[in-house]
Parts: sequence; structure tokens; C-alpha cells
Amino acid sequence: MTADIETIIVGAGVVGLAIARALAMKGQDVLVIEQHGLIGSEISSRNSEVIHAGIYYPTGSRRARWCVAGKQQLYRFCAENGVAHARCEKLLVATSEDQLPKLDALAATAAANGVDDLVRLTGRQARTLEPAVACVAALLSPSTGLVDSHGFMLALQGHAEAHGAQVVLNSPIEAIAVRPDGSFALDVGGEAAATITCTRLVLAAGLQSSRLARMIDFAKGYVPPETHYAKGQYYALEGRSPFQRHIYPMPQGAWLGLHATVDLGGRCKFGPDIEWIATIDYSFDASKLAKFIGFIKTYYPDLDPTSIHADYTGIRPKLYREGEAVPDFRVDGPQVHGHDGLVMLFGIESPGLTAAMAIGDHVAMLY
Ligand SMILES: Cc1cc2nc3c(=O)[nH]c(=O)nc-3n(C[C@H](O)[C@H](O)[C@H](O)COP(=O)(O)OP(=O)(O)OC[C@H]3O[C@@H](n4cnc5c(N)ncnc54)[C@H](O)[C@@H]3O)c2cc1C
Repeated sequence: MTADIETIIVGAGVVGLAIARALAMKGQDVLVIEQHGLIGSEISSRNSEVIHAGIYYPTGSRRARWCVAGKQQLYRFCAENGVAHARCEKLLVATSEDQLPKLDALAATAAANGVDDLVRLTGRQARTLEPAVACVAALLSPSTGLVDSHGFMLALQGHAEAHGAQVVLNSPIEAIAVRPDGSFALDVGGEAAATITCTRLVLAAGLQSSRLARMIDFAKGYVPPETHYAKGQYYALEGRSPFQRHIYPMPQGAWLGLHATVDLGGRCKFGPDIEWIATIDYSFDASKLAKFIGFIKTYYPDLDPTSIHADYTGIRPKLYREGEAVPDFRVDGPQVHGHDGLVMLFGIESPGLTAAMAIGDHVAMLY
């Protein structure tokens, strides 16, 4: 059986585009199919845009390895392609003495992950860098930064297209069937509804990867993981940011805490919090304001509560429910599910933006 195209990637978020670039540069014939009229309209445009150093994740995990590798690739790529970014640094702050053992444990994890540039600071030293911050000690992370995520995605798309890939928009995938020879037939909805066939298929559909994977019949009894949703909400601060660096409190479990991030325009925002939700819903919950203020004041006591206002929300694709152990990023290839030519990505939450290019390289290696 012949197929219309060699490789289809479903999803033009940062991960799908990084994979498209890596595969196109390898010489594959690539088509990226996106349901919305713009690239990066879902998770990739509703995040903190932080270039993570690789501090928090279990040593040896994909999240740790791909964050550290992806960070280096991302800085190089941004510099070479004129993508706006900044090595703005971050302070990870302990706001009470009882948090000090956790701060030390994080420094040890970071070192084991290859993040060897952290600097331990006293509260006084931290305040000489960031006078508005309140803390008893801190870790300075010089390799944490900030990227214009949309500029990054446009540059990835440009590279992919320069190597022959195509990106089609407004094209929701409605059904996936496996043909007798193992290749795939995809029903595309929208105005240009059609069925399109390919020999290789990558599902990089973020919040929808599990739903799309369930459309496929797997011979070996493989069952795709379920994706759960955890919403995060942001408040923005009026005027200039009181901080030059990102300020992160101690993480609570897998949640990094309500941090303060500084954007490329010098604006400061606070968030994201975490709320487990059953369906995709980006609405903003104004009743959370008091809780946000209380949390922010633990490290920024001078916050004027009248100076913050509603900003936006984003949704994390989680492979676990609240309280369960946190699994690693899932990139299920033929060795996992037994179907040649198929790679599916699940649970690519933070630090997926930072790790995107390393994820792209990994998928290109599987083919
Ligand atoms: C609140 C929040 C904060 C974060 N902060 C950071 C951070 O600071 N730093 C960091 O490194 N990471 C961060 N992340 C993680 C990062 O944003 C994600 O890992 C990354 O954006 C995931 O990209 P993606 O391409 O997998 O998903 P997406 O960007 O969601 O892309 C998937 C695409 O698939 C498309 N799609 C879905 N179904 C279909 C279909 N049926 N047909 C066609 N197209 C379809 C969607 O429309 C979408 O465009 C954060 C995430 C969240 C939620």
C-alpha cells in the first residue's frame, strides 16, 4: 500500500514543532497537522516561559536529562536564530528556618542532575541582589532564564519548513485507523475535510494525546495512559517588576509553588497555582485572590494587594491524579506498544518548553 506522506505529526505545539524540525532535518517527509488556526494555541502559549535549569526532577529521569540538555540547546538556538530570551537567573528562596533542609536537598538533586552552577546565599546576600525579597536563605540559579515561547515556536517551524516540512492549520484529526499493512489513515475535519495516509505517525497533541491514542487498536493489549488536567492561574502585577530575577518559593510536592516571574517586557506575574479539573476549562477564578496574596506575601511582604489583577490560566497534562506518585514524561514508541512507525507523547508538562529540542532529538532517534 502506498501512503500520501511519510510522517504525520499531530499537534503544532512546541513539542510537535521541535519533533518536526528534528525529523525534517533528518530528511523525512513531514506534515504537521494542527486543529487551531495558529501554532502553539494550547499548553505552549499558556505557561510561565521560564527556561528551567533542571533543579527539581529525579536524577536520571527524562525530565531531568532533557531539561538540562534542552536548556543548552534552547539558549544556543535562540542566540543563533534571533529568538528573544534572557538569562535572567532565579532565586529559589527558603522563607523559614524549617525549609533549609529542603533547600539543601534541592541543591544536591540539582548537582546530581548536572546543574553545577547554583550558589547558596544567606538571606542578607539574597536581599543585596533582590531588595524586595524576604527569605532566610536562597539558591541563585544563573542558568535559569526566560524565552519568548511564540518566537521560539515560529523559529522551529521556520527550520522545519526550510527542510521541507509542511504545517497545516485548522485541521482537527477526528479519527485514526490502522491499515492492513500497518500504515495509518487519518480523518481530518474542518473546511478541507479529507482522509490522509502516512507510514509514520507522531501524536504530540498535549491535552488530547490520550484521547487520540485511544482511537488506535493495539494488538499487544497496550493501553494508553489517561491524561488528567491540572489548571494553573496567573495574576499580573501593575507597573515595573520589583524583581529582576524569577523568585521561586519551596516546591510543594510536584508543584513548584506560586512563583514570581519576570517577562521580557519587565512585567512581573505570579502563578500558577494548581487546581485539578475534570474538563478543559480556561476560565479565571477571581475568588482565589486572597489566597494568592497570602502566599505571595511569604516572600514579597511589601505586595500592594490592589496592584495585582487577573491575567490568564493554563492546563497541565498530568499522568497521575492528585496525591499519586509523579511519573516521568512518556514517549511510547514501538518497543512499548508493538506498533511500528508510531510514537505517542503523554504527560509533557513542565519543563516541556525547556526540554522541547531534546524531546525532538529523542523522537528522531526512535525513527
Ligand atoms: C501553567 C503551565 C506553566 C508551565 N510553565 C513552563 C515553564 O515555565 N517552562 C517550561 O519549560 N515548561 C512549562 N510548562 C510546560 C510546557 O508549557 C509544556 O510542556 C509544553 O508547552 C507542551 O507542549 P506540547 O506541544 O506537548 O502541547 P501543546 O502546546 O498543547 O500542543 C499540542 C497541540 O496539539 C493540537 N491538537 C490536539 N488535538 C488535536 C487534534 N485532534 N487534531 C489536531 N491538532 C490537535 C493542539 O491544538 C495543540 O496545538 C508549563 C505548562 C503549564 C500548563
